[in-house]
Formats: sequence, C-alpha cells, structure tokens
Amino acid sequence: MYRFAPSPTGDMHIGNLRAAIFNYICSLQDKSGFILRIEDTDTARNIEGKDQEIIEILKRFGISWQSLYYQSKNLKFHQQFAAKLLSEKKAFCCFCSEEELEAKKQAAKDAGEAYRYDGHCEHLSDEEVLNCGKPFTIRLKKPDHALEFTDAIKGRIAFEPQNIDSFVIMRADKTPTYNFACACDDMMQGVSFVIRGEDHVSNTPKQNWIRQSLGYDGEIKYAHLPIILNSEGKKMSKREDSSSVKWLLQSGYLPEAIANYLILLGNKTPREVFSMDEAVEFFDIAKISKSPAKFDEDKLAFINREHIKRASKQRLAELFELEPKFAPLIKFYTQEASLIPRIKEKIAAIYGMKDIPQEWATQAQALREAILNLLSSNGASAEFNDFKAALSQATNLKGKSLFMPLRFLLTGAPHGPELSELYPLIRADLKEILDATK
Ligand code: GLU
Repeated sequence: MYRFAPSPTGDMHIGNLRAAIFNYICSLQDKSGFILRIEDTDTARNIEGKDQEIIEILKRFGISWQSLYYQSKNLKFHQQFAAKLLSEKKAFCCFCSEEELEAKKQAAKDAGEAYRYDGHCEHLSDEEVLNCGKPFTIRLKKPDHALEFTDAIKGRIAFEPQNIDSFVIMRADKTPTYNFACACDDMMQGVSFVIRGEDHVSNTPKQNWIRQSLGYDGEIKYAHLPIILNSEGKKMSKREDSSSVKWLLQSGYLPEAIANYLILLGNKTPREVFSMDEAVEFFDIAKISKSPAKFDEDKLAFINREHIKRASKQRLAELFELEPKFAPLIKFYTQEASLIPRIKEKIAAIYGMKDIPQEWATQAQALREAILNLLSSNGASAEFNDFKAALSQATNLKGKSLFMPLRFLLTGAPHGPELSELYPLIRADLKEILDATK
C-alpha cells in the first residue's frame, strides 16, 4: 500500500507532486493500492480550502486513490496509542514549559552544542506525575541502540539514539505531533512503502521507533527523494513561482508535460517523452539519482511542446478551450511558442480583428479583394504557390509588397512561420479570417 500525505498548509510544491506521482506509479506497478491522506493535525498552519485545491490538482494529473482520509479523524486513535505507550512506560509526561525548554535550547546554542532533551521529566514517579497539575506533553523514550533503515535510493542509513532523542509525540493540547500521527496512520492503514522528500529522512527512524514501541512488526520500506534545485543550484524555495504546481498550470504547462518532466528529473528513462501510463511500464524508484536534481524550465518547455504535438484533438480542445478543428494549428504553433496562452495568442491574432499598418493598407485592401474574388469564383487553390500566383496576377504585387500585407492579412503580425506552411491549415477559414480586418 502506498500513500501521498500532503499537509494543507500551502501551495503544492513540485517536490510534493513528484512524490505523489512516484507513489501512484509504484502502486499501479504492484497493484497494492494508493491512499490520499490529508495531514491536517497542525491546525495553526492549515489553510482553508488547500485540501480541495490539492485534490483538484491531483485529479488534473490523472491521479486517483482508493481512499481519502483526513488525519484529524484519527485523533482518538492517536490518543489511545499515546495512552498505551504511557501505561507501558515507553513514553512519559513532560511538564517542562516552553520557556524552560527555550532557555535550555538557548544555553546549548551559547555553548555551541546541539540541544538534546535532558531527561528532566523522564524519571518522575507516578505520584509526582499525578500531583503535578501542570499542562504536559508526552515524549517517547529514546532508544538505547542505533536505529537503521535501508532507503531504496540512498542505501543504508543509521541514527544514534541521541539523534533520535526523547521526542514529543503529543502536544500539551492533546493533539499528536506530525511524527506520531504519521507513524500511527501508516501503521493503521497498512502502508508498506513510503516515497517522500529527503527533508523527512531524519523523521524515518522516529516513525519506525514509534511503531516498534507500539509492538507493530509490519515492515515499511522508504525512498527519500533528493531535493530539487533551481537554475542557480539553490534549493527551490516555496516562494519561487516555478516551484508551485498551481503556477505552472496557470502559466500553460500541460499536466502530462509536468508529470513527464518530474519523472524524467534525476532519473534514467528509456526515452525523454512519455505519458504516465507509459512510465508505469519502466519506472524504477531505485534508479532515481542520489544527487539533487536541477529544475530546468527550458527542458520543461520542450517537453510541453512535445505533449502538445502528441495530444488528441479532444484533449487540445479541452486544454486550449478552442474547437477541435484548431488542433492542427495549435500543434503547428509549437514551433513558435511553448505555453498554452502564448499559442492561443497566435491563433487569436489570425482570427481576431487585425490592425494593418498604414504603410501596407492599400496593398492589403487590394489583396483582400483579390482573395474574396478567388473565393467566390474557383475557390482558393490547395497549393500556396498557386494561390500566391493568382494573387500576384490579380493585384500586380510581388516580393515584399505582396508578402508583407498578405502576412498581416492572414496572421495579424509582421513576423511568424512560413506562410506556405500555415496556408493549408487556414485555407478553409479564409473568409472568416478576412472578415476580421479593419
Ligand atoms: N505531511 C507531510 C508533508 O507534507 C508528509 C510527509 C510524509 O510523506 O510522511 O511533508
């Protein structure tokens, strides 16, 4: 069983989407199932509506799940598991206040040492605990031995007990911390493989330790994905536009291209352009590079153009919100632009109202009439060369004096693709196109 466990605390980062896609693909490969778990227990950081946004984004990427959970619904189980650990003396109540702990952290910092919990409340008697009367957190006792696990990408990783520490599993307000809720839920939901970002590596021994302390012996495998760097080689921050999936979609990248690019990133694949279904055939999590991957927007733009060229008429109509008849023209304009709005602008310039510069107005008017005459007599020839010859004959225009006004008439722009290549794609619409001329 695989899962994707986003927190509804901000815009979905491409690193999160990459984890979602990888978990989903692996779940399709071994047919073990895929869970979407919204980790909403940190109520102070939750942002209203972000859960729905995440759900909508995943759907746009064609990702589906067998079950959807909200972690907060499991609160009573988290509390019961914490009570069990307390009664078995595997966990203890900690009455240290925030201020006291803060002061100790500061002292450690001043001494240039790493802060560790000093075990202050670990050995309180039951009586002292019962009579304390102060708010408390619950801490899990740290292990007395190193904890190891094998990461599918990074290999064997070991953590010394002091690096795990007696960490907090329940906050003073009786809500679980991330590590506790996550470890309990992965156990309860029968998760067997977790793929997530490498910022979680140090959480893994803690989560394993929680489940071991609860007596769970089901194995959970892990793969931690290297971070994604920006073009300057720095960690891609949440504030960078291109790190936000929503921003990429709004800019006009296709979901299939973004997914393709994220699968390609830091990976060895048999080819560069593929669909998610195709990736299910060859994807191997162990082939993901250990070193950070660099986000390259030019490469993403290339992949985007390739997916536009591959897309069906219906898919393009849906993505571009244009009639299916525009599909060939959309594909044609990938030679000029990569993003949906940029390509739409080119097409809108052909079919929209055109402003012909004064310099070419007379010639354009003559050509317009000549084309309309052709259309009402024999129709416009299939070959651009014949069409051009007929226009030249009717207007006596040639060379630049023919091409420039003709280009303005047909495309609304001074530059663009070869008219001879564009012509067959717009020939059927010449009347409509000419009607949109001032
Ligand atoms: N809610 C955590 C996050 O979004 C989940 C990490 C995990 O996959 O365990 O970072």
